Formats: sequence, C-alpha cells, structure tokens
Amino acid sequence: MLENIRIILVNTSHTGNIGAAARAMKTMGLSQLYLVDPVNEPDGKASAMSAGASDILANAKTVQTLSEAIADCGLVVGTSARSRTHAWPMLDPSSCAEKLVQEVEKYPVALVFGRENSGLTNEELQQCHFHVNIDANPDYSSLNLAAAVQVFSYEIRKAWRNKTQHDEHVNEYPLVEDLERFYEHLESTLQKTSFIVPKHPGMVMTKLKRLYNRARPEVAELNILRGILSAVDKAIKKAE
Ligand code: SAH
Repeated sequence: MLENIRIILVNTSHTGNIGAAARAMKTMGLSQLYLVDPVNEPDGKASAMSAGASDILANAKTVQTLSEAIADCGLVVGTSARSRTHAWPMLDPSSCAEKLVQEVEKYPVALVFGRENSGLTNEELQQCHFHVNIDANPDYSSLNLAAAVQVFSYEIRKAWRNKTQHDEHVNEYPLVEDLERFYEHLESTLQKTSFIVPKHPGMVMTKLKRLYNRARPEVAELNILRGILSAVDKAIKKAE
C-alpha cells in the first residue's frame, strides 16, 4: 500500500535536501520518489544526506514536468508553507494522510513538494485536487523541504497503521455460523453435566448467548472456549 504513495519534489535546488527527503521517506516505509526537473541530479551530497536510503535515490524517477509525474494518479495533494490559496479545498496533514491511505487502494496517489525558495507555482498548485498546510508559527511558517517531507511521511505511516490495525481487528471476530456451532456445543456439554435438563431447559442458553454476545469473543477466544468444552466432554466420557 505504501509503495503506491508517491512523493514528488519539484525543481529542488539542493541535492542534500533530496537525500534528506529520501531518508525521511524510508524511515516511514515510503519508497516512491519522483523528481520533477531537479536543478541538479542527486550527487554525493544527496547520498550523504540520505544515509542508508540510497536505494530510494537510485530508484527515483526524474521527469521534466509535474504533469508527467502525476498523469497516472487519482489523487494529488500539493503542500504549501503558506495557506495563500484559500479558494482551493484545504486539508490538514492528518486528514490528508488518511485520504491518501484510503484512496491508494484504488490508484497511485501523490503528495507534491515545492522549491526551497519559492514553493510551488500557482499553476502547479492548480494541478492538485487539494492543498495541505502544516500549521506553524505565522511569522516563520516555512519548514525545510526534507523536514516537511518527514512530517507528512510520519502522518502517512500513522494513518496506514490505524487503518491496517482496524482492518485486522474487524477480521478477528468469528462468523455467526461459528458462534452458532459454539452455542450448540455449549448446550450439549451442559446437558451432559446435567446443568441443563433437556426437559426443562429454562432460559439458561438465552442468558448465556446474551453474555457471549456482550463480550463479543474474538476468534482466538472462541477457540479457547471450544477447547474447554472438548476437555469437559472428554472428562465426562472418562467418568462414565
Ligand atoms: N518560501 C516558500 C517555502 C518553500 S519551503 C513558500 O512560501 O512556499 C519548501 C517546501 O517545503 C514547500 O514548497 C512545501 O512543499 C514544504 N513546506 C515547507 N513548510 C511547509 C508547511 N508549513 N506546510 C506545508 N508544506 C511546507
């Protein structure tokens, strides 16, 4: 999922910033770097600043225009140190990250960063669906390019973690049919112990179902309960 989230650096002047951005990306599990018309191609300074992330640099794609870098993307978000384009739909970094992580399941998505001295042009900003701004000191709001890449990469990782953890958790619950099989097993074992008398079952099973429904056992927990019932069954058989 993270491999299809593209970081695009437009017309970067300092190769050290390209290297530091690659490092920022790699620490957060991102890998797809695009360089739009870099003033200088990544050099020794870029490698030095990338530390162990030279693979990201080696795989970076260089293109001449922003249009080429985003042609196959379904969602493009432009970053800006100033919220100067109020007319455009704005996101904050965390909702931006959530959106990228959500939509990357359907198509590649991109986050675009501007020049060190002048950011993105209005024309480039207008090629983006949304703009995003890191809230900062109004008198000094411009982060170093690679520092901005780090903030967004972290937000993307956080959103991705939340999403995958949530997905895993949803999958941990048993299906209705598995719960039904458990209830049947429970009833049969309780009958064998004479806790439930088949002729006068009362409300025990309904009350137990209500209890288990409230506790909402996960798959692994239901397996333990089934294991306990099997052990009780075995003990009863032995005693007979
Ligand atoms: N003077 C430029 C600042 C460029 S900083 C300007 O006013 O736009 C270089 C790049 O880092 C920006 O284009 C943007 O991509 C990113 N960046 C820096 N500070 C940021 C902030 N507060 N919010 C979002 N992106 C920021």
